[in-house]
Amino acid sequence: MDGPERASTPSREKSPGKDRDKSRVTTLEPEPRRPPRREAEEAVRTLIRWAGDDPAREGLVETPSRVVRAFQEWFEGYDQNPVDILRQTFEETDGYDEMIVLRNIRIESHCEHHLAPIIGSAHVAYLPHHRVVGISKLARVVELFARRLQIQEKMTTQIADTLNEVLKPKGVAVVIEAAHQCMTTRGVYKPSVTMITSRMLGDFRSNPTTRREFLSMIGNPPVREIA
Ligand SMILES: [Zn+2]
Repeated sequence: MDGPERASTPSREKSPGKDRDKSRVTTLEPEPRRPPRREAEEAVRTLIRWAGDDPAREGLVETPSRVVRAFQEWFEGYDQNPVDILRQTFEETDGYDEMIVLRNIRIESHCEHHLAPIIGSAHVAYLPHHRVVGISKLARVVELFARRLQIQEKMTTQIADTLNEVLKPKGVAVVIEAAHQCMTTRGVYKPSVTMITSRMLGDFRSNPTTRREFLSMIGNPPVREIA
């Protein structure tokens, strides 16, 4: 990724991109125009002053450029298309039609209300129907959506719906358990609380046995299902 400036080049502004309309999963957010890097750094200086410190003191002089670079990593999910990641599916399943489960995928995201970290893990499962995909691709789709400003419910839905639309499996299940630092380090200050969300599609929704099998594989968390 070469930096936010790239965002203001004509190629990116050449929306409304027909490609993005092909699938609902790729039209998640409008693409706003990104400001130049110096504006982003100035905004960090303003926040440092808001915190009560002096952005000109020695220890903080380089902080705005570091924060802006960190933002590029934390939010690089805006520059990626989940369909591209999953495009290389392996059609040959050799008759394999059992559940594929990826447990404990580390989630590092940021809440869209406070920009505070959301740290946790995701469990993803699907029942293949002709198409299977490399497990690293599943993890990358999770990471892509995590590297955007999020609420956990939306992230859960986006991951499940993307896999459902691209792989067209018999079913998809996604469970995310995460701690929200806007809640654990401030506000209501509940340090040990985690939130568990889930989205079940296809057989995972309609067949209680399939759902139970999946939930027991991931340790039976008390899930809160998103319709
Ligand atoms: Zn928050």
